[in-house]
Amino acid sequence: MNYKELRYQMVKEQVVARGIKEKPVIKAMQKVERHLFVPNQFRHLAYSDSPLPIGFGQTISQPYIVGVMTQLLDINSKSKVLEIGTGSGYQAAILGEICKEVYSIEIVEGLALKAKSTIESLNYNNLFLKCGDGYKGWIEHAPYDAIIVTCSPRKIPQALIDQLVDGGSLVIPIGEKNIKSLVLLKKLDGELVRKDVVPVRFVPMIDEQGREY
Ligand code: SAH
Repeated sequence: MNYKELRYQMVKEQVVARGIKEKPVIKAMQKVERHLFVPNQFRHLAYSDSPLPIGFGQTISQPYIVGVMTQLLDINSKSKVLEIGTGSGYQAAILGEICKEVYSIEIVEGLALKAKSTIESLNYNNLFLKCGDGYKGWIEHAPYDAIIVTCSPRKIPQALIDQLVDGGSLVIPIGEKNIKSLVLLKKLDGELVRKDVVPVRFVPMIDEQGREY
C-alpha cells in the first residue's frame, strides 16, 4: 500500500474539498501517518472516510471530523492545548504538529498505554499524556489556549470552562444519546459565546465507574 499517496488523497477529497482551509491543519493531516494509530487489521482502511475501531469499544474519529475540530480550535505554534479523550493518539499528534504544547487525557488505561507507545515511537517532545478522568480537566497546566473534547458529555463540564484562557476556544460534542451537536464555545470577557456547528456522533464521556456524564 502506498500510504503517503492514500493520505494525500484523503486530505484532498475528504478534508479540503469539504471546506477545511487552514494551512497548518492541512499540512498536519498530510504529515501524520494515520495508519500507525489504528490496529493492524484496519490499517488498509486508515485513510477511508469513516471512524474506525481502536479497541475497548472506542473509535478513532473520521478524518473530516478531525479536520473540522482542529480548525475550530483557532490555534497556532504558540498555543497550549488540552485534549480530553486521547484514544489512539492521532488527534493529539495532529495538534502536536501545530501547537507548542499538547496535554491529553484518556480514561481507559489500555488505550492510554497504547497511545503513549505510539507517540513515543514518533519522537514528539511536545505531547504530554496521562491516564485519568478528563471531566475535571488537567489543572496543573491550566489555563489552556484551546480545549478539544473527543468524547461527549450531556453538558459542558465547568472545569473545562474554568481552565480556558479568556479569548480561548472550547470544541466539544454535546447532547443526549443520539442527538449530539459539535459545539464551539468562545470565552470572551468571561462570557461564553456558543455556536452549534454540525450534528455528530461521538462515544460518551464516562467516569471511572463507566457511568456516562
Ligand atoms: N481523539 C481520539 C478519539 C478518541 S474516542 C483519537 O484521535 O483517536 C474518545 C475517547 O475518549 C475514548 O478513547 C474514550 O475512552 C475517552 N474518554 C471517555 N470518557 C473520558 C473521560 N472522562 N476522560 C478522558 N477520556 C475519556
